[in-house]
Amino acid sequence: MSSTNQYTMRDPTTQYPRPPFEEQPQPAPGLAKEMTPRPDHGEDSYVGFGRLKGRKALITGGDSGIGRAVAIAFAREGADLTLNYLPDEEEDAKDLLPIIRDSGVSVHTVPGDIQDEAFCTKLVESAVKEMGGLDIVVNVAGKQAYQDSFLDITTEQFDATFKTNVYAMFWICKAAVPHLPRGATIINTASIQAYDQSPILGDYAPTKSAIVGFTKVLGKQLADRGIRVNAVAPGPIWTPLQPSGGQPQKKVKEFGKNVPLGRPGQPAELASIYVFLASQESSYVTAEVYGVTGGHPLP
Ligand code: NAD
Ligand code: MG
Repeated sequence: MSSTNQYTMRDPTTQYPRPPFEEQPQPAPGLAKEMTPRPDHGEDSYVGFGRLKGRKALITGGDSGIGRAVAIAFAREGADLTLNYLPDEEEDAKDLLPIIRDSGVSVHTVPGDIQDEAFCTKLVESAVKEMGGLDIVVNVAGKQAYQDSFLDITTEQFDATFKTNVYAMFWICKAAVPHLPRGATIINTASIQAYDQSPILGDYAPTKSAIVGFTKVLGKQLADRGIRVNAVAPGPIWTPLQPSGGQPQKKVKEFGKNVPLGRPGQPAELASIYVFLASQESSYVTAEVYGVTGGHPLP
């Protein structure tokens, strides 16, 4: 562990690398370990205080990026984990598992493609069985593939983006809710793109608006069951999603330059918001969307 942690006072403009960055194309879904500079997921810095002690959490996209930072933070806060990611990402998952086990919690992995409803149901059932219940569902997995013109978005791409970002969230929530006790929480991952759309993200940006809408509906509907539902809307975050086709390489070079803090966020900088929304600390927060944008606020 380093001598600094998430509570060390620092200048947020210089706390992490600023652009320009190197061009660094890689095929989707992309690996965190191939990125320069390497993203910070809190491996050496996140300190937990038992804020999720004994909870059982399912996290999609848990191998890299935001999901990996959430997994590390949840483990250090005392939660047992079930992680999903694509089989191609086993390398990122492999070096994460010992970090999680070091926290003394259990971790169970279910690699597979969430574009398939039957797999989503199986994922939830497996999480419930392995952990002996389910208290927290965190939908982080997402697909982003830019196209300069919307005319170049194929039906296949449109379908894959909506299946991954929207349908899977719906299927996972549907399978999970019957298992969730009162006090359980669901956290979805939206984006600044739900509010301020890039013209080159013609399929991705609308999925993020759908996630915001679904989160608000579900938050209102599940209040009766004592289940809270919220979303996090990140701005530009330094993860493999971007250099693996999420943005053109010329934008990767300048990634984060245009937000007031002048740099991309690191996955570690989102972890505490997910912990807060998962824990009882946020007991009066539901159907809400939290921005983590570097100063590009949600409307
Ligand atoms: P990431 O590439 O590290 O994580 C995305 C994960 O999605 C992958 O690791 C992969 O495991 C998973 N995934 C993709 N397709 C899948 C499929 N078909 N089946 C199962 N898993 C699949 O990148 P990230 O930036 O940490 O992305 C996490 C979430 O954050 C996404 O929902 C993304 O839209 C959102 N987000 C990212 C940014 C950003 O700038 N990086 C900004 C706003 C929102
Ligand atoms: Mg990944």
